[in-house]
Amino acid sequence: MPSFKCASCSQVHDGLPELAVPEPYFVGCLEPNAKSKVERLGTEICVFRDGDVRHFFLRGALGIPISGTEETWSYAA
Ligand SMILES: [Zn+2]
Repeated sequence: MPSFKCASCSQVHDGLPELAVPEPYFVGCLEPNAKSKVERLGTEICVFRDGDVRHFFLRGALGIPISGTEETWSYAA
């Protein structure tokens, strides 16, 4: 079984690492002064407020089966 050293907790985990981004692309493109409009940024949800309007971003993960194995590799954004 493959294993990897986790970039988040520095522990070695069994399985394959997930490719994930730390924040929605939209938030990464904001000017530094607009980052204060991000009300919440967690591992599963991000909330951005622009005046009276709130934008909600939920994390999604796509598991891709690896041919010939029982493993899946995930891309999350
Ligand atoms: Zn970890």
